[in-house]
Amino acid sequence: MRAMEFRAVGRPLEPVDRDAPVAGVDQLLLTVEACGVCRTDLHLIDGEVAIADPPRILGHQIVGRAIDGRRFGVPWLGWTCGACKYCTSGRENLCPQAQFTGCDIDGGFAEQTVVDKRYAFPLPDDAGAADLAPLLCAGLIGYRCLRMCGDAQRLGIYGFGAAAHLITQVAVHQGREVYAFTRAGDDAAQSDARELGAVWAGGSEERPPDELDAAIIFAPVGALVPLALAAIAPGGTVVCGGIHMSEIPAFSYDLLWGERQLRSVANLTRLDGEEFLELAPSIPVVSKTTIYSLDQTNEALADLRAGNFTGSAVIVPGTPMSP
Ligand SMILES: [Zn+2]
Ligand SMILES: [Zn+2]
Repeated sequence: MRAMEFRAVGRPLEPVDRDAPVAGVDQLLLTVEACGVCRTDLHLIDGEVAIADPPRILGHQIVGRAIDGRRFGVPWLGWTCGACKYCTSGRENLCPQAQFTGCDIDGGFAEQTVVDKRYAFPLPDDAGAADLAPLLCAGLIGYRCLRMCGDAQRLGIYGFGAAAHLITQVAVHQGREVYAFTRAGDDAAQSDARELGAVWAGGSEERPPDELDAAIIFAPVGALVPLALAAIAPGGTVVCGGIHMSEIPAFSYDLLWGERQLRSVANLTRLDGEEFLELAPSIPVVSKTTIYSLDQTNEALADLRAGNFTGSAVIVPGTPMSP
């Protein structure tokens, strides 16, 4: 089968032909229909999140078909121990032995992949594979971040990429007011946010017209933390949704005072997945996608890095290469 392999930090993914993987006990062999590209893939390639045992096939927003035709979605969380204090208390996202798809386990930038059936979500047949793929990380981790904001009415979102795109739709559906913060001058992302129902969109250095109740930071930029804390009301929460962030600059305690909270969201639990995948079609959450073939995976990653599209990049292995 054709696959894109990570071999070393800082190097483009390598197109390779490999033997098709073989499913073991408790595993499923999936033919990949689509696999979303995530900012975490850039962090892996850049060495900001370590891959212990290369070569590795990246890709952790997989939509695939089993041999019997059933469709499954595979998220970042690929395996947990099931026995530790985290696994036995509804916090399997924190399991110290957890294995992550497209990082510790081969992922979906390939024609086929093998997954643990306990960590694969059944998906409906009546939606497009490329439309479903971004739900599996951008949507799901975005949803976990949104849950950590409690019942915040005025919600700030810093970094208007794939996760913000999907989670704005959920927040608006829940009757919240969304304030979208983008790179200064990113008119495309700001108009995208307004189209999705944001009541305000502006540059991340700007102060919003109203005090926020909570904010989610999806951009991997530590300098946004004090800005977001300054924008929220006493008692509000700032949630950092990314797996990696540049250093957070020192800030005055005044910004945290007033019972403001600062927290991260790490990974996901299967319960998050089940809840979100049930909720998404009822809204419905609509993905905005840019499609690439498997051989164009490096191009998709470069476009993500450069901010060349709004919404999500999705690899569709069946897509013929553009001339
Ligand atoms: Zn991801
Ligand atoms: Zn565990």
